Amino acid sequence: MRAVIMDAPGRITVGEREDPRILKPTDAIIRITATCICGSDLWPYRGVEPVDRTPMGHEYVGVVEEVGDEVKTVRPGDFVVGSFVISCGECEICESGYPSKCVNSEFVSATIGTQAERARIPHADGTLVKTPGRPDPDLIPSLLAASDVLGTGWFAADAAQAGPGKTVVVVGDGAVGLMGVLAAKQLGAERIIAMSHHPERQRLAREFGATDIVEERGSEGAARIRELTGGLGAHSVIEAVGTEESLLQAIRSCRAGGHIGFVGVAHRGVTIPADRLFFAEVHLHGGPAPVRRYLPELIRLIWERRIEPGRVFDLTLPLEEAAAGYEAMDRRTAVKVLLTV
Ligand SMILES: [Zn+2]
Ligand SMILES: [Zn+2]
Repeated sequence: MRAVIMDAPGRITVGEREDPRILKPTDAIIRITATCICGSDLWPYRGVEPVDRTPMGHEYVGVVEEVGDEVKTVRPGDFVVGSFVISCGECEICESGYPSKCVNSEFVSATIGTQAERARIPHADGTLVKTPGRPDPDLIPSLLAASDVLGTGWFAADAAQAGPGKTVVVVGDGAVGLMGVLAAKQLGAERIIAMSHHPERQRLAREFGATDIVEERGSEGAARIRELTGGLGAHSVIEAVGTEESLLQAIRSCRAGGHIGFVGVAHRGVTIPADRLFFAEVHLHGGPAPVRRYLPELIRLIWERRIEPGRVFDLTLPLEEAAAGYEAMDRRTAVKVLLTV
């Protein structure tokens, strides 16, 4: 099958990989319909994370081709959306709502790689959710968004306790930040302040529900947030970048007793000074989003056309042109790239 492989930092090829096959009775093989490039794929692309002929991709929607003997919830022919983390759905951690930390978890990006024609999905019952039928083609980008960026933005908004009467600040104007705006709006937040200094992304943020835009960063950004919130800071803050600067921005933007949902992937060396955290007196909840927990609800909202997260994709390319997609995301000329298979 054809698949995207990152040979080395900055070097993307589309080449041949062995077709996946059922290895365990809980596996499913899916034919990928659409996949995409993630902001996190840029870490190895930029040489921040090691990479050596690595199969890429962890976001996916597709059609089940084959299932192992023990798979109960999906059948060949079903259209499915899956999380970017494999989860069993049966362990105590899965049952408590944290499938991304399942005792049997596996990152799809590390071993499976869904920027490809096919993929083997272990623990199919605990990882995949089928849609009510074959989706209309215009729903596919939105369903694909649910696989990671929407699910991640949703978790951030949920963790930040965005809801009626709340003022929400969103730090980060990438795809996840924009999905955080959409989620906060859907959860009923009264005011949504998006921190962004890119006109194009500001426009998208407003489309998704932002009521205010703050262009300033650092101390100026924090001062502006205080000004907009009667000097108190926001009730809820979504952190969707993962750098020290953005985490501190989130902490400074949050009021005492407020909640921060942080989903930007932090890398080694990113630290938060304990004194800043101590004196901020805020709730912090974050990590790799338990997307599988939210998938049934997100699929329903998309199916009923109540949300359209697929608008976050501003460039669509065939799988064979994946290299151009990585380049566009690296240069920030695209927010998020969808690859058709
Ligand atoms: Zn992703
Ligand atoms: Zn589990």
